[in-house]
Amino acid sequence: MPRDPRYDILFEPVRIGPVTAPNRFYQTPHATGFGWQRPQSGAALRGVKAEGGWGVVCTEYCSIHPTSDDSPYAFLTLWDDDDIAPLALTADAIHAHGSLAGIELWHGGAHASNRMTRVPGIAPDAQPALYHLPTTARAMDKADIRAFRGWQRDAAVRAKRAGFDLVYVYAGHDYLPFQFLSRRTNARCDAYGGSLENRVRLLREMIEDTREAVGDTCAVAVRLAVDELHGPEGITSEGEGREIIEMLAELPDLWDVNVAGALGNDSRSARFSAEGFQEENVAFVKSLTTKPVVSVGRFTSPDRMVSQIRRGVQDFIGAARPSIADPFLPAKIREGREDEIRECIGCNICRAANNEGVGLRCTQNPTMGEEWRRGWHPERIAVHPRRETALVIGGGPAGLEAALTVGRRGLEVTLAEAGDAFGGRLLREAALPGLATWMRVRDWRLTMLDKLPNVQLYPGSRMGAAEVAEFGADHVVLATGSRWRRDGVGVYAIRHGVFPEALTPDDVFAGARVTGSVVIYDDEHYFMAGALAERLAKQGHAVRYVTTAALASSWTVLTNEQDFLQARLIEAGVEIIPLKSLTSQGKGEVALSCVYTGREERLPCGTLILATGRLPEDSLWHDLVTAGISATRIGDCLAPSSIADAVHSAHRFARLLGEPDLPPRRERAPERSL
Ligand code: ADP
Ligand code: SF4
Repeated sequence: MPRDPRYDILFEPVRIGPVTAPNRFYQTPHATGFGWQRPQSGAALRGVKAEGGWGVVCTEYCSIHPTSDDSPYAFLTLWDDDDIAPLALTADAIHAHGSLAGIELWHGGAHASNRMTRVPGIAPDAQPALYHLPTTARAMDKADIRAFRGWQRDAAVRAKRAGFDLVYVYAGHDYLPFQFLSRRTNARCDAYGGSLENRVRLLREMIEDTREAVGDTCAVAVRLAVDELHGPEGITSEGEGREIIEMLAELPDLWDVNVAGALGNDSRSARFSAEGFQEENVAFVKSLTTKPVVSVGRFTSPDRMVSQIRRGVQDFIGAARPSIADPFLPAKIREGREDEIRECIGCNICRAANNEGVGLRCTQNPTMGEEWRRGWHPERIAVHPRRETALVIGGGPAGLEAALTVGRRGLEVTLAEAGDAFGGRLLREAALPGLATWMRVRDWRLTMLDKLPNVQLYPGSRMGAAEVAEFGADHVVLATGSRWRRDGVGVYAIRHGVFPEALTPDDVFAGARVTGSVVIYDDEHYFMAGALAERLAKQGHAVRYVTTAALASSWTVLTNEQDFLQARLIEAGVEIIPLKSLTSQGKGEVALSCVYTGREERLPCGTLILATGRLPEDSLWHDLVTAGISATRIGDCLAPSSIADAVHSAHRFARLLGEPDLPPRRERAPERSL
């Protein structure tokens, strides 16, 4: 299909100082969980982005010195010349597809705990290292500042030798140059503190130093948080953020601007932000500089992208998550296939991977992070050698993904779903406050399934063992999902309890009556209890939220959502009762026990809702085993987990059909004979 001419503007080349981006699609720096430890994995991932049409592809944060060590999280390093060759792998992989390679040089300042290098951290002033250890970052003196500038210069030279076209000066996300900029973290009394002019000095010097280091064949980008969302005491887009851009307007070759301070503000989940949510904070930048500007905002709609350019908000379409969910987003627009864009759902499972220190993953794109270690490509898959038949039972995320991927491999596929609509758990969960975008997991798969003549979809078709036997498929795949537990077993409470009057989330979704004051008991710790509490509070119920953890929906710390969520629950009037487990339910009350002391207390309760754990919905599988019919379970019906895991499990099944199940490749030292 030819490209829709209204999207032509997205494919215009853009000059960035001495280099030219082939189009306006700009993959901004984002973490991968690969870092210096897994260079081949990182290179393969970035190469796929470039292949998918991103005109600029940047690395994740790349430390310039051992005083900036983020271990155990994965980050890149340019500490010495030995770092050049592994990074050249990434630059080469990006260049192989004609894109520009950018590298985000980084110093964390008080944000780096240096757990591996064990050298003291540095900061504008002595201050507690912000993460994890009881360490203190020491105040930088003049010699430290001189040394720091040298590290940036050396790293920039090495970056250029590795082949990068665009080298970052990184003054965002609360990292060291930003710590100098903000009054909140800089109380120095010398030439680098006090007035804004002084606080900007280091950033100005870094831009000049970096330019001098890379010469005139490589561009210098500045990533700046123009608003740290701390009100007037910090950098704001109406105040000092604006003034900084005014002061340095023409100095870099490109401005990459966003809101910070912490990363959570910049990559807010869909639950707490809409597409383009940073516009109000960053839109002013273009009016103050002639240099190209890029920003992010989870852009997945080509029309919104065009509008960003036409309205002069930015020159590029900056994206981290949309490029993770669909590395081929630009190619699809270019080829008139925008209906095939696998839109990011804004769930932040990708952020959780980074926060857990593991390789990147994505709910929508099961191949993300698997490019090197499993050899998966988001758009290509081997055709199965035989035209066999597959019966997939269950049309939730796992069943849809299995039908699609097995269908792409060329088998004759039948997808049977008991309900009248496809979507499984999504039909319920996407109806919760802020989670509507999650339905994209279903919608994209239905769109793509519609294009496969070898896949037939049958809603309203509950399958039993007899129907499966009668169907007689070569491969039977069970994706029948899970149900919430009634026995209170969860993360903390591993002994079964008896709560005959309690409801589960399934009951609430099915329309069970919720009366009197509500107690929601969270011993699962992901989104369900928090989202239900929000919904019920908004419906006017008095809600108490009891959790065995210290925080509401505590696992969402990893998706960078927890603080937003807790604030929202408090604002909605939900009473949060942490660190208590549920022991029993009596008439009009429940008994709780302190997780530390065991001390009991009672709470009035009209309706008790248990969000603890889930069990596989696998009765059909047991029936098939009894009937001697072989079948494979995938997704929640094998092991209930996140939607991301269900999709990955289905994709893995489809890839492995007829293939050996080998362990993923690991990056190791070169072989030697023993
Ligand atoms: P997953 O996350 O693993 O995809 P879901 O719970 O979202 O799991 O989806 C499971 C789907 O399987 C639901 O839509 C449910 O209606 C369907 N299902 C369960 N049992 C059967 C069955 N026997 N026949 C057909 N569909 C079934
Ligand atoms: Fe988007 Fe979720 Fe994928 Fe992250 S994990 S890129 S938020 S769909």
